[in-house]
Amino acid sequence: MTEWSKSTWRNLPRVQMPEYTDSAALAAVEAKLSSYPPLVFAGEARKLKAELAKAGRGEAFLLQGGDCAESFQQFSADLIRDTFKVMLQMAMVLTYGAKVPVIKVGRMAGQFAKPRSAPTEVKDGLELPSYRGDIINELDFTPEARIPNPNKMLEAYTQAAATLNLLRAFSTGGYADVNKVHSWTLGFTEGEKSEKYRAMATRISDALDFMKAAGVDSNSAHTLQSVDFYTSHESLLLEYEEALTRVDSTSGKWLAGSGHMLWIGDRTRQPDGAHVEYLRGVQNPIGLKCGPTTTADDLKVLMNKLNPTNEAGRLTLIARFGAGKVGENLPRLIRAVQEEGANVVWSCDPMHGNTIKSSTGYKTRAFDSVLREVREFFAIHKAEGTIPGGVHFEMTGADVTECTGGVRAVTDEDLSDRYHTACDPRLNASQSLELAFLVAEELSK
Ligand code: PEP
Ligand code: MN
Repeated sequence: MTEWSKSTWRNLPRVQMPEYTDSAALAAVEAKLSSYPPLVFAGEARKLKAELAKAGRGEAFLLQGGDCAESFQQFSADLIRDTFKVMLQMAMVLTYGAKVPVIKVGRMAGQFAKPRSAPTEVKDGLELPSYRGDIINELDFTPEARIPNPNKMLEAYTQAAATLNLLRAFSTGGYADVNKVHSWTLGFTEGEKSEKYRAMATRISDALDFMKAAGVDSNSAHTLQSVDFYTSHESLLLEYEEALTRVDSTSGKWLAGSGHMLWIGDRTRQPDGAHVEYLRGVQNPIGLKCGPTTTADDLKVLMNKLNPTNEAGRLTLIARFGAGKVGENLPRLIRAVQEEGANVVWSCDPMHGNTIKSSTGYKTRAFDSVLREVREFFAIHKAEGTIPGGVHFEMTGADVTECTGGVRAVTDEDLSDRYHTACDPRLNASQSLELAFLVAEELSK
């Protein structure tokens, strides 16, 4: 393979990236970002990789979740806190179900750039370039708003830094105490009609009471008071990624400094394309979305390019086929992995294959389809004798109405009440926690 540098992606075909017209402004932004501190550090990425290696062996379970697209306008401490809080609740329920540690990775502090299915959008007869995430252009439907502006990368960096600062504080500042997290979950289950969730929450209470009686309580055990929380995003805007790429002084290897884990999207995984080229050279743990169009041959080429030394924890394959389509797609890819003897973590994204248009005209996802895809994913791994290592959700701690269904049934008519996403529909706090209970049930089977 040819030699890699943080800029070699520039020589290869790129898709889904903006054409900046003001090259002087772009160069100035890149120079500035290159001089800024990285957002994450090599030791943290190494630690995450070691944890993911365990998930690949069934000794840990990955929970990855957050917004489809982070937004500059909706940036607030409360929203970050609420998503963090729900992820901790989900992690606790999943830990109980899986009986292994849950690795918490937010789609946060960098999830700003979006691939789109069409380059333009038409509204009331007006055709404009598509919105590509706040790091690139703006959601407003005006010609000016849709012009890609490189200065937005600086705002994204600042927001990511502030988000990480808050997440780091929440992770250690008493907010993550197990007893506190569980009391929130009890608040959810007490108000619910579902006996099933209440019963599981009670069993978790019993386990915590037992630990306390045995002398393992959160006042004495540091691990029960704090958590490791990691960040991730789709590595789409390569000018931003390159500018934040740094050498790890310990290993001499390159690190993407923009987030702990970066993934390659379903639309940008061309084996000879720019995105694969950039990610093959950085040492972070990486994700690769696998969809219905992923062929076994492509997957083999990609695994060899992205993880030539077959390092455990380096590569997470994020399956996103859609409910009803897992059976025809996952087994052939599992076999490709087996034929290569590749070390991977298998994670399930039950969101992106299940996007539909509601009868009321909203882009939505039905809770039941999301759950069905998760169940199919688990069933196939069971049948193949392989390990389901994690789940990947688009979710928020806010009480939005973007996906339909769940115990507090959101209907097609309700979608207009609180539909706030800048891109794809997210599970709300209650739907997220409910899903965690149902996944925990699958894990304990
Ligand atoms: C996403 O995760 O927001 C996304 C666009 O996913 P995919 O590349 O799988 O469609
Ligand atoms: Mn999405």
